[in-house]
Amino acid sequence: MVIKPRSESKELKLYRMLNMRMDLSVEEVQYYGSLEKGFEGEIQFDAWLESLPESENRLILNDLLLECNHTTFQIDSLLLVDETLYVFEVKNYEGDFYIDENGRWLTLSKKEIKNPLLQLERSESLLRQLLQNHGIKTHIEPYVIFINPNFQLYQAPLGQPIIFPTQLKRFSKKLPVKPANRKGIQIAEKLLSIHLKESPFKRLPKYTYEQLKKGIICQSCYSCELQFQDQILVCTKCSCKEDVRSSIIRSVEEFILLFPDRKVTTNAIFDWCKGIKSKKVIRKILSENFTCIGYGKSSYYVD
Ligand SMILES: [Zn+2]
Repeated sequence: MVIKPRSESKELKLYRMLNMRMDLSVEEVQYYGSLEKGFEGEIQFDAWLESLPESENRLILNDLLLECNHTTFQIDSLLLVDETLYVFEVKNYEGDFYIDENGRWLTLSKKEIKNPLLQLERSESLLRQLLQNHGIKTHIEPYVIFINPNFQLYQAPLGQPIIFPTQLKRFSKKLPVKPANRKGIQIAEKLLSIHLKESPFKRLPKYTYEQLKKGIICQSCYSCELQFQDQILVCTKCSCKEDVRSSIIRSVEEFILLFPDRKVTTNAIFDWCKGIKSKKVIRKILSENFTCIGYGKSSYYVD
C-alpha cells in the first residue's frame, strides 16, 4: 500500500517550464535531463514494487525528505515489511560504467559519477540516527537499485547492497511475506509526520519575467505550440487535448510557482497566458478557482 505517493519535485517542475520558456545553458540542460531521467527511473521502480503480489500488505513511502542534525537527506523509496525498513536508492543510469582501483565510479569515457553506495550509506546512517532520536529502534536494509536494463557495471564488487535489473525478480522473492505490523505502522506515521515539504534548490537557473516566453504550454510534452479549437487547446506536437479552462488554471499555478512574489491579477494572467483573447474569461476563471483579496483595481488572487 502506497502511503506516500511520489510526485515531481518543485525543482523538476520549474526546470520543465523554464526549458520551454527560455534558453538554458548546456550545463542546465544536462542537469534538467538528469532530473527527468532520475524521476522516470523512480516511476519505473514504483510500478515494479507495487506490482508485487504482497504489496497491498506492505507500506511504501516514496520521496521522503528528512532532516537529522541539521542535515537534510532524501530517500527515494522506503518499504516497510514486518519491522524491517528497506531503503532504496534508485538509479536510472544507462550505458557502461566501471569502478577503478580507488573505488571511484566512472563512465567508460572516464567521467566520474557520484558513488551511489556512499550516497546510500549516508542516507542510511542519517535515517538510523533520526529514528534513534525519536526513540525508534528498527532493522534497516539499504539497497541501491539499478532500474535501467541498459546499465552495465564492470568490476562490480561482490557482497555490496546493489540490485541490478536482472536481479530484481530474485530480490523480490527474498522479501518477507509478513505484512507491516503495529510497530511498522507507527514508524511509517512518524516518518510521514517529520517529512519536510520543501527541498532547498541548489541549481535553479536565473530568470526574469520579461525574459520568459509567454503563453500556455502543453501539459504532456511542454511544447508551446498549441492551437485553439473552440474551448479546447490542441497540442500540434503531441496531439494532447485540454480544455481552455483547466489549461488557464494550470498556467496560473505555474505562474505562482515561477514568480511567488508577483501578484496574480487578471492583467498579469492575461499577459502570461498570451493567446487567450478575453480578459473576461480570465477574470471569471480566477474568481471561481482562487481567492480574491481586496477590491477593484488593487485586487489580486491567491491559491
Ligand atoms: Zn504536447
